[in-house]
Amino acid sequence: MGKLTILEADVCVVGAGPGGALLSYLLSKANISTILLERHQDINKEFRGEHLNEEGIAVLKKAGLFAALEKMGILPMKRVEYVDRGKVFKTILPAEGINHTGIHVPQNHLLKVILNKANTFPAFQLKMNAKVVDLAEDMENGGNGVMAIIDDKKTIVRSRLIIAADGRFSTIRKKAEFPVTPIRHGYDLLWAKIPAPLNWEPTVSMALANGSQLALFTQYGQYIQIGWNIKEDSFPALRKGSFQIFINSLIEAFPELEKSVSEHIQSWRDFVLLKVESSKSSTWVKQNVVLLGDAAHTMSPTGAFGLNSSLKDAEVLAEVIAAVLLGKKPLSHLKEYENIRKISVEEIQSEQLKRESSFKDHFTIKTDY
Ligand SMILES: Cc1cc2nc3c(=O)[nH]c(=O)nc-3n(C[C@H](O)[C@H](O)[C@H](O)COP(=O)(O)OP(=O)(O)OC[C@H]3O[C@@H](n4cnc5c(N)ncnc54)[C@H](O)[C@@H]3O)c2cc1C
Repeated sequence: MGKLTILEADVCVVGAGPGGALLSYLLSKANISTILLERHQDINKEFRGEHLNEEGIAVLKKAGLFAALEKMGILPMKRVEYVDRGKVFKTILPAEGINHTGIHVPQNHLLKVILNKANTFPAFQLKMNAKVVDLAEDMENGGNGVMAIIDDKKTIVRSRLIIAADGRFSTIRKKAEFPVTPIRHGYDLLWAKIPAPLNWEPTVSMALANGSQLALFTQYGQYIQIGWNIKEDSFPALRKGSFQIFINSLIEAFPELEKSVSEHIQSWRDFVLLKVESSKSSTWVKQNVVLLGDAAHTMSPTGAFGLNSSLKDAEVLAEVIAAVLLGKKPLSHLKEYENIRKISVEEIQSEQLKRESSFKDHFTIKTDY
């Protein structure tokens, strides 16, 4: 692996998901030297949150990124629908003054827009293929930072602040010994993507199929993302049963998808199993190490809050860091970020649990048909 490489910046952000990318952009824009480390070679990741709500949209507008995103390609949803055997019985329309009930943004569009703009600032450095493996403390010349393998080279990145934006299985969170409490949801998710029929409108559609929540998210590019809840750890047993009976319950809920489903979901192998993990950390800040986004508070997929919460974290944290590094506030001021964000994020996590346990109620009180 050869000799040690040293890199330096005021802030080292680990993880170029939406939270880490946005934070790095905002800091570099404020002329704070920032290095962003991402373990992947490129940003074309699968199975990420891609629906923006009003909070996420407002953050991107304020950051001056939304217009570029619109240009690259987004898909506003016209409504949320609850469906029973092909019939819509409940519709949620956009709130007054808003022309959508959420917007689908492919994550590679979002990350491209943020990183391309960040690249225009001299204070920004991006290292892809850069896997952070540990914290690196008290090095020969003082200071601390992280240890990473960048393009196969062992590298120390020295920085005044370390931001863990490395997602739900955060290495930094573990190495810095932040306490984490898992939240149980009792379900896993089967995930599949199929082409949308020609006249399919941009909607989020919810049904009960095989006794569980089935959600269809229309996506940019004429696709439908299927998210189907199954009981936690039940997939091995489910796979032993009849695939045809299982898939028929999807077609019964959405008969107009029969052709697309039969062409694209032909066996259990055409589903991806996602373990639903969520968690909270009792503290998000330890001296110069700060948790952001999923690393601080992994969200369940319900209500599509995770991406939006990460973006909001980044907005708030960028202001707090600027006050510390440019405004000469003490390091302890970083706690202000946790004070501003933690309560509202934990309220959302409680709301997710409530929505999950009351989902079936929508189907016992049918009104509109
Ligand atoms: C199936 C599914 C559907 C979802 N749907 C939605 C939705 O519609 N809307 C919504 O708001 N949220 C949704 N979410 C949640 C959303 O995806 C996350 O909350 C959001 O991506 C968190 O952003 P983040 O930047 O904090 O972390 P992440 O997006 O997880 O990014 C972390 C980054 O860190 C990198 N990384 C990890 N370890 C290292 C390391 N050691 N060194 C360097 N880099 C590292 C990873 O490669 C990754 O790029 C969904 C989640 C899932 C699983």
